[in-house]
Amino acid sequence: MDEFALIQHYFKQQASGDASVQQGIGDDCAIVQPLPGKLLAISMDTLVAGIHFPQQTSAYDIGYKALAVNLSDLAAMAATPQWFTLSLSLPESNPEWLQAFARGLFDCAKKYSIHLIGGDTVRASLSITIQIQGYCSPEQVLYRHGAQPGDTIFVSDYTGEAAAGLLAIKQKQDMPYLVGKLNRPEPQIKLAQMIQPYCSACIDISDGLAADLGHILSASHCGAELEIEGLMANPNLQHLDRQEREKVILYGGDDYQLCFCVRAEQLEQFQREIWQKQPQIQKIGQICAKQQLLLKTPSGCRTLAITGYNHFG
Ligand code: ADP
Ligand code: MG
Repeated sequence: MDEFALIQHYFKQQASGDASVQQGIGDDCAIVQPLPGKLLAISMDTLVAGIHFPQQTSAYDIGYKALAVNLSDLAAMAATPQWFTLSLSLPESNPEWLQAFARGLFDCAKKYSIHLIGGDTVRASLSITIQIQGYCSPEQVLYRHGAQPGDTIFVSDYTGEAAAGLLAIKQKQDMPYLVGKLNRPEPQIKLAQMIQPYCSACIDISDGLAADLGHILSASHCGAELEIEGLMANPNLQHLDRQEREKVILYGGDDYQLCFCVRAEQLEQFQREIWQKQPQIQKIGQICAKQQLLLKTPSGCRTLAITGYNHFG
């Protein structure tokens, strides 16, 4: 199958459109009609085989995850998904692989109501780049800056599960729940829109909790005191010893949960309106003025290095 037949068969035929798409796949550019009065949020992420997913990852999961991690960036800013483009670099044109990849990709696209409007296809080693676009209202963008001393820090769910999944794969342990967390992240699009009115800052956790919270802290010129005993109690991580558990929770990447700060004056309302109905949300600490990241544990306090995955580190 040549390049054009491949695009037609696996991508054009399955791409959904909507009224905003004047020209989808098939011309030199996609042509879209943006909504008046809205801001566009635009982001791009690349997944490279062996770096962002293990070589043995199924084509379905690669397709799903490639889109999901991009959607997670929209979630982090409380944006609503609209369109995406796909740049696919493939070592060969393998029909079974492409079929499964496209199924994973479009299952994720349908679930989060986003439309594929174009892309590029080349022959080279396996990597997938997606550029994504969504809408925000000008008064509803959630930035990394904006956290203030006294804000309470939350995560949208447990962290460290994806890293524990990767560990299980490396150690050849059969842990389907954790491996599922690694391969099929769920971008927190809906939750982001619910929490936005209460939040001063937000980020999605791709490189690890300490590193990504660190980005909020440097953008907001403040520090944090963390208490992670709630995260340490995660029943799905109890096979790891304390030290290993702490490591995946603080430094493990790929969870794509949100880390966000709730303003002190809105905390009570947040608790009533959101937290009580979303018990998976975990409270993990406080923003403070001193620019450091302090971890409080049952055995005392220590200062943490703000590090996570870094391609050039
Ligand atoms: P050009 O040579 O003008 O860049 P291409 O041959 O690369 O055009 O692409 C033809 C059409 O197919 C364009 O509309 C492009 O957006 C679309 N396209 C190419 N690859 C993909 C892909 N992997 N997924 C979706 N659309 C694609
Ligand atoms: Mg092209």
